[in-house]
Amino acid sequence: MKAIAQRANTDCSDLTGKRIKFVGLALAAFVALGNSANAQSDNANDYDLAAALDPASGALSVTGTIDIVADKRTEEIEMLLNGQLRIERISFSREAEMQTENGITCGTYPLPHTQRMRIALAQPMEPGDHLQIALAYSGNLTTESFEMGRGIVSPLWTELSADSLWYPVWYDEPDIRYTLSLDLPPQFDVVGPGTYDRVSDGKWRLSSPGIVNTRITFAASDSWTIAEREIGDGLTGAVYTARGTAKTDSILTGLEQVFEAYRGFLGAPSLSTGAIKIIYPGPEIEPTYPQQAYVAGNDFIVLDESHLQVQLDTLNHEVAHLWWSRGASGTPDEFLSESIAEYLAKRHGGDLWGAEWLERQRDRMRARSEKIDTSLLEIDGFTSDRQALLYNRGPTMLFALQDRIGRGAIDAILHELHSRQADTLDDFFGILSARHGDAMVDWAREHL
Ligand SMILES: [Zn+2]
Repeated sequence: MKAIAQRANTDCSDLTGKRIKFVGLALAAFVALGNSANAQSDNANDYDLAAALDPASGALSVTGTIDIVADKRTEEIEMLLNGQLRIERISFSREAEMQTENGITCGTYPLPHTQRMRIALAQPMEPGDHLQIALAYSGNLTTESFEMGRGIVSPLWTELSADSLWYPVWYDEPDIRYTLSLDLPPQFDVVGPGTYDRVSDGKWRLSSPGIVNTRITFAASDSWTIAEREIGDGLTGAVYTARGTAKTDSILTGLEQVFEAYRGFLGAPSLSTGAIKIIYPGPEIEPTYPQQAYVAGNDFIVLDESHLQVQLDTLNHEVAHLWWSRGASGTPDEFLSESIAEYLAKRHGGDLWGAEWLERQRDRMRARSEKIDTSLLEIDGFTSDRQALLYNRGPTMLFALQDRIGRGAIDAILHELHSRQADTLDDFFGILSARHGDAMVDWAREHL
């Protein structure tokens, strides 16, 4: 459930949540959005939406309810919504007042196409309290109006993710469940995380595979190409592209190889369905941020546009999240998802592409890590160092640890960590201590 990768060098205090990306940032984002396993899961917010979308015009109209369950004492709820959408009706089950502001600024970044919904509660909500929001909104979504994440609207390829803000997103409390009734023109096909069903021509029903982090996401097309392959254990890999691409075979082979490599020492992951769906529109399609990649619902991987080897490196990271998506975002515990996923991806990349490739990657991570004064142990929220620490310092330490204790010993630690469903960095230190002593833990802490 993890937050973003590339993010501006600015403290964006208005967006205390996650996954905010800004214009001009073009590196791959590695966002893991699997099933949440933390204790807050019981307080997941529930979205029940009915949406009609015309990919040709971008016309979207939505009605539904959002059942907010407070995770902590809450006096105000701030949601973000695409600025092209007009709220026609909204009501609350508690006394509340809403103000909207169109065209907001985040840090120094103007977001001219984004609106903020500020819902002030007459009485604060206590943890576990509910607020039902019933609402209707509509407007015309355009690809240009997506300011924070991937997103594109067109008949050949439509891809709507949380950060396109096609529904109100509360970044402070990202754990959600959803059901979505989706109407599209009848010739369209849809794919989403978990299960999704064609109810009748043009009518689809999608629901979240358990609790997901923020994302109500899907892709649709009137003519895409799907390539499928058995990847072992009764699993299917499927690549969705706009017009087919020569890369499809390599991507499926890459999926097969990396899945087998991780499964070899971690065991099978708990997937939402028997298919791993890879969403890769191909070079002729231009989402707002084509270099972003993420996993949603533990079976839906949105792949970036790049050179094949870079894409496979991204894939290796995202597939690792099928095992590693624990540890609260914006805390040192995120090491368990992002640092481990990145370490495993680079290690597998070394197996595929050789020691020289791996050395280059390790040098790059080490150099980036050395530029940061703070420690991974001090990550507190979505600061500018967070990402560099998780994607560079963390894996650099793991490779150095591998140099000291050997790859097999790392595998044993990761296997134990995974099978315990550990979700804190202290769990990692506990296992390291039991196997290699406290001095090794001190060393690891110093190198984070
Ligand atoms: Zn990641």
